[in-house]
Amino acid sequence: MISPIGMLGGTFDPLHFGHLRLAQELVEGLALSEARFVPAGLPPHRGQPFALPQQRLEMVRLGIDGNPLFLLDEREIIKPTPSYTVETLLDLRRELGAMQPLCLFMGMDAFFGLATWHRWHELFDLAHIVVAQRPGVDGITRAAATLPAELLNELNRRLTHEPEALRDEPSGAILVHPVTALDISATQIRSGLAAGRSPRYLLPDAVLDYIQTNGLYKDINGT
Ligand code: ATP
Repeated sequence: MISPIGMLGGTFDPLHFGHLRLAQELVEGLALSEARFVPAGLPPHRGQPFALPQQRLEMVRLGIDGNPLFLLDEREIIKPTPSYTVETLLDLRRELGAMQPLCLFMGMDAFFGLATWHRWHELFDLAHIVVAQRPGVDGITRAAATLPAELLNELNRRLTHEPEALRDEPSGAILVHPVTALDISATQIRSGLAAGRSPRYLLPDAVLDYIQTNGLYKDINGT
């Protein structure tokens, strides 16, 4: 049986311990072989990040350094066009083959917005979706009433509580997995820095050193 691979996309503006614990706990908790961090180049869903693509890439590289379970995937940063997850997964599929189970990691907040993603229906043909229960966000069943009908249908069809389902098929299941509540966000880190406060202990020292050396996030309004 092939061990599933996890993938965490994000702007990582900057990378912080919320991202790292999420990936660590999902990889270990679900017995995956690795987690690939995929920093978004030009994220289509939100305003442009504050740090440059190469700087966000470097912060992820520094933050995951030394963890044998983590890998940096540069493909979205290298692309000149918007980084749609569906295209990244198609690319990965071509590389890894049809049988390799793939798990797309996301926080609960990201899952609630899934129906706005480009060609989102196709995501289920390409990967499983593993939703990390992020602090401060309602559980999936409690909040299900607020989901768009189409996404709720997919959730009802695909929700599983069995981690084995991630190995049985290469894609198509939705699994919710709790992760340690770390109520950290990149927004909070950026606004702290802009206000002259240190985000120490919210992110790896190597990432903080990089931010300070490059003078990142000092002159923004924190949003
Ligand atoms: P921002 O504050 O700029 O919106 P963010 O901290 O939410 O950023 P992203 O790069 O947008 O970070 O997040 C990438 C993924 O990591 C998303 O799926 C998000 O839900 C998840 N995530 C971010 N922070 C946490 C956290 N503290 N705990 C669990 N998941 C998280």
